[in-house]
Amino acid sequence: EKFKEGLSKTRNQFTSRVNDLVARFREVDEEFFEELEELLLQADVGFETVMELIDQLKLEVQRKNIKDTAGIQSVISEKLVEIYKAGEELDNNLNIQEDGLTVVLLVGVNGVGKTTTIGKLAARLTAEGKTVMLAAGDTFRAGAIDQLVVWGERAGVEVIRQSEGSDPAAVMYDAIRAAKNRKVDVLICDTAGRLQNKVNLMKELEKVHRVISKEVEGAPHEVLLTLDATTGQNALVQAQTFKDATNVTGIVLTKLDGTAKGGIVLAIRSKLNIPVKFVGLGEGVDDLQPFDPEKYVYGLFA
Ligand code: GDP
Repeated sequence: EKFKEGLSKTRNQFTSRVNDLVARFREVDEEFFEELEELLLQADVGFETVMELIDQLKLEVQRKNIKDTAGIQSVISEKLVEIYKAGEELDNNLNIQEDGLTVVLLVGVNGVGKTTTIGKLAARLTAEGKTVMLAAGDTFRAGAIDQLVVWGERAGVEVIRQSEGSDPAAVMYDAIRAAKNRKVDVLICDTAGRLQNKVNLMKELEKVHRVISKEVEGAPHEVLLTLDATTGQNALVQAQTFKDATNVTGIVLTKLDGTAKGGIVLAIRSKLNIPVKFVGLGEGVDDLQPFDPEKYVYGLFA
């Protein structure tokens, strides 16, 4: 339901155009595939993934001896899911410890929806019965701390912070102590996202990472990279930068409701080989959904 609603832009453009194509072409021929290829590229599925998909569709059409376009949607859906999964079961669940503190680190550039995602995640985990605390680790961007505090209030969780400009690693240290003292289940940490100075940002992330792993065994248990779906292929470039600097364990793809190019999910999966764990489908506190490739693809064609 949320999924279907949030994907309406992609569905309205991509899916309705696939449907038009199917209606226009009675026969599955080379020209049909060419136009389908174009549609997939426009939906940001990414060049290599599109080529792979088209190849596989052709094989399947041959194998099943499909002559007309009726029913091709189900083959397309099937192949989209298969390509996403790439033959392996990706673990889409958050790695939450049974005992003791779980530390989740959020990374990503400014404006992608990191703070919002932290708020939504806090609300979600709280609703699941977990106790949650937030660490205001973006001490650089003006207003970032206040914004996190607002989300903390909304989700009813405590926010550990220092003043603007202070050392993010020190904030993490404080937050971990507080979280341990109060026997909190999950500590979610915000980080800075200025990309103007990439080297410093990556150094800062490394330091934060180091403090966390020193204070809590096995932590951070998740490093979630937040990417903005509306930035299309740029999101992939950002992802590569962060992947090179930190051990990213999952992707949160935000603003999927704001784009007709929902195919970016597939491009991310095949380019980066990191599971998309959550998608953002709106600005509200309930608009963060666990990502499920079947629900996603079948939601497009439903
Ligand atoms: P940050 O700089 O990465 O912390 O980004 P923010 O959390 O401040 O978000 C930037 C803007 O994106 C805000 O206006 C959010 O409301 C909006 N936003 C975040 N996630 C989503 C989403 O999934 N869908 C939509 N439509 N807007 C979002």
